[in-house]
Amino acid sequence: MFEDPKYHLFRFYAKWLQPDTEDYEPSAWQKKDAPDGFHWNSTSTRTMYKEYNIEHVEQEIERWWDEFDDKKKYDIQKVYLYAQYEEQETWCQGWFSHWTFDVGQTDQEALRSFEKFVQRKKAHNYKYGFGEHYDDHHERIYRKTGQRAYCLMGAEDRWRWTARADGQSMVGFGPSTGDPPCRCDACRKHGVLRIDH
Ligand SMILES: [Zn+2]
Repeated sequence: MFEDPKYHLFRFYAKWLQPDTEDYEPSAWQKKDAPDGFHWNSTSTRTMYKEYNIEHVEQEIERWWDEFDDKKKYDIQKVYLYAQYEEQETWCQGWFSHWTFDVGQTDQEALRSFEKFVQRKKAHNYKYGFGEHYDDHHERIYRKTGQRAYCLMGAEDRWRWTARADGQSMVGFGPSTGDPPCRCDACRKHGVLRIDH
């Protein structure tokens, strides 16, 4: 009997100042509290742990930022990195994909677990009025309720679920390599199962 375990889910954020350029019009929030000629930019990612300690989380966020290539494009002036614990969950979001730990579950058990996860996130989005898809009102709702929409990146449509071996989905949505969940060498090496969508 597969117990569908939940893990510690974190979100990593980076925020920095970069020079204004001719070809980009920063939004109001990007100019807020920025010195003349600069605007704020940011990125984030999620990760998940079976067990964690703070030193490990700090190392991981530093490594994530080291590997963030886009930062080389800008003359960055100031960087804030922070990690925030989000919740206990079964699946972690990637780029148009989700992954969980391979703990010996069958394909059927993994798919059933993911279906339940998707339903939970859809219910959350409906409950707070975000609608089925991520929408422009999310800041207004966040200010009112303190809740964020969960962007499923297409996972809400089961027909999109597929497997793309060796992280192909990260570099431009390569062709499907089989039925989900993915159990390719890269997934095996990291001890995970992945569903792309
Ligand atoms: Zn894989």
